[in-house]
Amino acid sequence: MKKHKIRLRIYILVALVLTLPILINVYSPILMVWGIRNGIITASFLIFAAWFMLSLFMGRSVSCAYTCPYGALQEILGIHVSKKKPKSEKANKIRYFISVIFLLLVSFLIFNLGVAKNIDLFASNDDLQLIILITISIITISLLSILFGSRAFCRYLCPQGVFLTIGSKIGRKIKIPSLQLKSTPNNCSNCKLCDKSCPMGLDVNQMVTNSTLNDLNCILCGECIEKCPKDAINYSFTAKD
Ligand code: SF4
Ligand code: SF4
Repeated sequence: MKKHKIRLRIYILVALVLTLPILINVYSPILMVWGIRNGIITASFLIFAAWFMLSLFMGRSVSCAYTCPYGALQEILGIHVSKKKPKSEKANKIRYFISVIFLLLVSFLIFNLGVAKNIDLFASNDDLQLIILITISIITISLLSILFGSRAFCRYLCPQGVFLTIGSKIGRKIKIPSLQLKSTPNNCSNCKLCDKSCPMGLDVNQMVTNSTLNDLNCILCGECIEKCPKDAINYSFTAKD
């Protein structure tokens, strides 16, 4: 796939952050769980379901890199904070643990209350408790990014990121052509501009050198592609893993 110019992405992120006061009524994981608990299908549930389907062939690009307002907020707030790189194993263990809790909670609610029957896309409008909870969660993820660097919540805690990673793994397992990164290690000059640009704090230079670009935490944002002066990283759309 031809190298993309993705400067547009930063404008999309800014737009997502500026419209966050509206978007919290449309998309929030808290809203999704609240809807399941009350037998209501919310816009959040439908958006997450669409993200999961898209993850089969677009990985986490459509969701995490381009449309999640909470990811956008974290990236913008943490853009100048030096990213404290997580030991990938440790970060993954924490995220998987939280995801299991999240899944158990949702399963428990569905098991006890049955499948949601009503659709109410903007269910949070008149629920003050819910708005307070969402506001606290936004403040918390903002502080995490300011303290630990861009997308700290995505890197350590986001359960949805895990489900979207699972979606992208399923897509690759059943050999659906999907968006991936490919490297040309011979082009690499080890300048490490890709490391500095990665909003997920990944060691992209090493990934390029080892030809292991399919990291679980990569959101396929394309920042490393944009920054690489040697054309050592590109997108590809392939069924190969
Ligand atoms: S490795 Fe590249 S595409 Fe993946 S998250 Fe980092 S900058 Fe984005
Ligand atoms: S930006 Fe490109 S040339 Fe520089 S280290 Fe990364 S892959 Fe290599």
